[in-house]
Amino acid sequence: MSVEHRQIVVIGGGAVGLSVAYHLGRLGQRDVLLLERDRLTSGSSWHAAGIVGPLRSSINLTSLAKYALELFVELEQETGQATGYCRTGGIWLAQNAERMTELRRIKAMGDRSGLDTQVLDPAAIGERLPFLHCDDLAGGLWVEQDGQVNPVDLCMAYARGARARGVEVREHSRVERIETRQQSVSAVLLADGGRIECERLVLCAGAWSRDLAATAGVDLALAACEHIYLVTDAVAGLPVPCPVIRDLDAGIYLKGDQGKLVLGAFEANPRAWRPRPDDDGFLMFDEDWQHVEPMLEAAIRRAPLIAGQGIAHFMNGPESFTPDTRQLMGEAPGCRNLFVAAGFNSIGIMSSAGVGKVMAEWVRDGEAPMDLWEVDLRRMDPLQADDAYLAARLPEAVHNQFAMHWPYKQYQSGRGLRRSVWHDRLARHGAVFGAPSGWERPLWFAADAAEAAPDYSYGAQPWWPAARRESLHCRDHVSLFELSPFGKFEVSGSGALGFLQQRCCGDVDIETGRALYSLMLNRRGGIEAEVTVTRLAAERFLVVGGAAARFKDFAWLRRTLAAGGDVDVRDVTEDYAVVGVMGPQARALLQELCESDLGDSACPHSSARSIVIDGRELLALRLSFVGEPGWELYLRQQDALPVFDRLLDVGVKYELGFAGHYALDACRLEAGYRHWGHDIGPGDTPEEAGLGFAVRLDKPCDFDGKAALLEERRRGPRRRLRLCEVDAGAVLILHDEPVYRGDEIVGHCTSGGQGYRSGKTLCFVLFYRGEIIDGFEIEVAGERFALRVLDRPPYRSRMQ
Ligand SMILES: Cc1cc2nc3c(=O)[nH]c(=O)nc-3n(C[C@H](O)[C@H](O)[C@H](O)COP(=O)(O)OP(=O)(O)OC[C@H]3O[C@@H](n4cnc5c(N)ncnc54)[C@H](O)[C@@H]3O)c2cc1C
Repeated sequence: MSVEHRQIVVIGGGAVGLSVAYHLGRLGQRDVLLLERDRLTSGSSWHAAGIVGPLRSSINLTSLAKYALELFVELEQETGQATGYCRTGGIWLAQNAERMTELRRIKAMGDRSGLDTQVLDPAAIGERLPFLHCDDLAGGLWVEQDGQVNPVDLCMAYARGARARGVEVREHSRVERIETRQQSVSAVLLADGGRIECERLVLCAGAWSRDLAATAGVDLALAACEHIYLVTDAVAGLPVPCPVIRDLDAGIYLKGDQGKLVLGAFEANPRAWRPRPDDDGFLMFDEDWQHVEPMLEAAIRRAPLIAGQGIAHFMNGPESFTPDTRQLMGEAPGCRNLFVAAGFNSIGIMSSAGVGKVMAEWVRDGEAPMDLWEVDLRRMDPLQADDAYLAARLPEAVHNQFAMHWPYKQYQSGRGLRRSVWHDRLARHGAVFGAPSGWERPLWFAADAAEAAPDYSYGAQPWWPAARRESLHCRDHVSLFELSPFGKFEVSGSGALGFLQQRCCGDVDIETGRALYSLMLNRRGGIEAEVTVTRLAAERFLVVGGAAARFKDFAWLRRTLAAGGDVDVRDVTEDYAVVGVMGPQARALLQELCESDLGDSACPHSSARSIVIDGRELLALRLSFVGEPGWELYLRQQDALPVFDRLLDVGVKYELGFAGHYALDACRLEAGYRHWGHDIGPGDTPEEAGLGFAVRLDKPCDFDGKAALLEERRRGPRRRLRLCEVDAGAVLILHDEPVYRGDEIVGHCTSGGQGYRSGKTLCFVLFYRGEIIDGFEIEVAGERFALRVLDRPPYRSRMQ
């Protein structure tokens, strides 16, 4: 058996793996080896349609995708290998007014990202593309930078560029297994018996990534299916090059190919496919003409000149999709130095440029070079890698590519992954559930059947009346909030304090029984996690973070933990159910249930006390995220239901109500609390985020990100996040809406919503310069509204 050693091994010779290898070479990384089991491109890349569409669903993803426009040109010049890249322009069609609103919103985000876009009415579309049937259209969005590339040529250019920079690209070398030692990658074992030890491994094996990751004990939530396009014979009258046409409401796209038309679809009934390690290269599945009939009919309706054309080629090949239609990138939780870039949901060719660049930097530095949370694989719950779950979710995920991207949309399939112990109780009280982060959580509590039916819209949300009712109830009385999905970690051992001092930028050397809001920073001073640290004993801490970031927070906490050291970090999320008891009557209610003194002096804000209700001991943390006085109660699972029921019984006297996730979000916005993942993230420093109070530069020890914060202090923050009020009545503000001063875009919204207690429409805005003046406007779906920066949050309870 041959044994080799490499610094970095990349698995997979498709567009993504080759781009990663090329960019590692560009970064000057030495001793890089790419392994491909068959020939380069033989997985999904060889048969891609090659559409390049830089306008994505968010500012960060658009900036990542836009890099392709530069790189494809540069790569050709550098390597002498043509890539077939050309800019064709493209149109996104809308068949109804709601879709048009969606496109207007996307356009605003595109403007912010520097793309040239134009809203067109049906007549203007007909003038530009006379072969399209436009009578049934509401309009469309023209994107000047849409284009296409030849996927195989692009891959060859990456390979040539990588080799020229010293990367070894080896074909016919199948990795059979990934070997780990002490939860870190140590080697790959090849099917021919070879063994290659490596320091870092990048898994870019497309649809085959899931099974390979499993050999290292890593769960990857991706599923493969057959993905199809048809190529017509040459069509007379077609412009060359032909713009990309996406008929979103029909679920189809059209693009030109040297005088022919390529027709593809994101159908609601894709055919699932299970990859196997010994699959042939260049796989092509059966021609199922019945399956493509609806797509063909839709294409003929849109471009009648196709009718009667012969089909020159039926392409049916493998592609992988993920539960939320975004790729999986980053270091695998639970296995250090194993990096993943897979699950590209039919945009892997166009994404390969930006993905290759940031992945190479991620592998080199051990930290993502920008905020990549939306595609970070640690956003996935390991339960989402389950076969049955993926089978249920796959059709909806594929169809969702072009389906309406409604605000607050919830997936229908693959639900019920995680439920709290009092789920049924909440359901009986009218909870309308959603699963924003794996867990079923009440979004709101419906007063009747009509309120329970989620009816999506880009205008006033049907749940606004419920969220308003719940917010006001919490202001006036007391309400229960379901908080069980919080990520909860116990850090213990003689080294626990020193370990947390290094991780957190606040001084966590607090008294036992105290809690501290703190941040964990990366090397650039960016906020990787937002947590509450509670000291339970001298050498025992409870660290609590948001539900969505649970697996990322845990991985971030543990990333430098040495095995067998003096610190133990455990995920105890499932051990506790948590309920928030919030509102002016919270103290009276809890005081009636327990004998401990919950008064201000015995139990001040940010204190943690063990209290007993009905003989059951629980942890009561005096904290509130909603701007009302309140407690978070942490209960052992076996104690949770009896205590919950007691709360409900005694609560009648205090008019105890329920509040859902949407009321919680509205209340936190009004109280000026930032939301990690939306308002703040790895690209924002505490100072930029307005969270400078959480940093203790003077604490008697070093902490992650300190050097970057000192540097920032010298030069001042580059940007500023501020809470703003919008003069717009009840307009729906989501995220990424651009903010103007005159004609200049000076910032963008990070989250927004209604503040029911203050009666204001609010949003957080990230301003790109340190200095904040006035005269701002926010653009929402093509309309501008005056925006005022607030000096302080518009709501604070009189009782706090
Ligand atoms: C019909 C169709 C149309 C598409 N159209 C577009 C489009 O217009 N635009 C776009 O951007 N994308 C498009 N895509 C998607 C695109 O093809 C994929 O997203 C992209 O190719 C994924 O690239 P990858 O490198 O991640 O995976 P792959 O190309 O599958 O590469 C993975 C490689 O890993 C190798 N491998 C697997 N297992 C092992 C192992 N054990 N050891 C070593 N090597 C291994 C495989 O052989 C393969 O070569 C389309 C896909 C299909 C099917």
